[in-house]
Parts: sequence; C-alpha cells; structure tokens
Amino acid sequence: MKVEVSPDLCCGAGMCALLAPEVFDQSDEGVVLLLDARPPAAVCAAVREAADQCPCTAITLHETPEAG
Ligand code: SF4
Repeated sequence: MKVEVSPDLCCGAGMCALLAPEVFDQSDEGVVLLLDARPPAAVCAAVREAADQCPCTAITLHETPEAG
C-alpha cells in the first residue's frame, strides 16, 4: 500500500492520527502529516479505516501488489 495525503484538503479533523498514529500525525495547525507513505501490512487495516473516516477525502490509498 502506498499512502498519499492532500494537506490542502485536510480540515484537521484528526481521525487519521487517532486511527493510525504510526502513519499519520498532525502539525501544530492541525494539518495532516504523513509519517510513513509505505506502511507495514500490520497497520494497513487502520490506514484504510482512516481513509474511510476522513471527512475531507484528504487521504488517497494506492493498493500495491507487494506485501504491505
Ligand atoms: S482525517 Fe482527514 S481531515 Fe482529519 S486530519 Fe486526517 S487527513 Fe485531515
């Protein structure tokens, strides 16, 4: 899985950082920060949940054939 974020779209809801703190953080202004664009398989379910829950569709996932 490859993760992309669009800080321009982020409205600072913070769902991503709550659901997958290994992959997402927030700046002091509340804007999403991507910590790991290629997260390990163990956190991919949480990353998918974060993308689903993001109210601003600021998280884009690219499923890749390799593990993770
Ligand atoms: S869940 Fe979406 S809107 Fe909220 S901080 Fe994360 S990327 Fe931004």
